[in-house]
Amino acid sequence: MPEAPTRLFEVACKGCQRSLVIVARIRDQEIAALEDHLRACRSSEPLGVAPMLGEIMRRIQVTALGQA
Ligand SMILES: [Zn+2]
Repeated sequence: MPEAPTRLFEVACKGCQRSLVIVARIRDQEIAALEDHLRACRSSEPLGVAPMLGEIMRRIQVTALGQA
């Protein structure tokens, strides 16, 4: 199977609507950055001490931007 063309995704905070990162794939590093933002963001619901991925994903908005 050929690899699908690279698509980019814009990740924005649902709380403050700020665009946080544009990435091809959301990895641990991006998750950590998103978690940092969500903790600092006053518009977002507070996160627990060790949030599950689902809790982070619930607070962000992911939009496909098309091919790179
Ligand atoms: Zn925010």
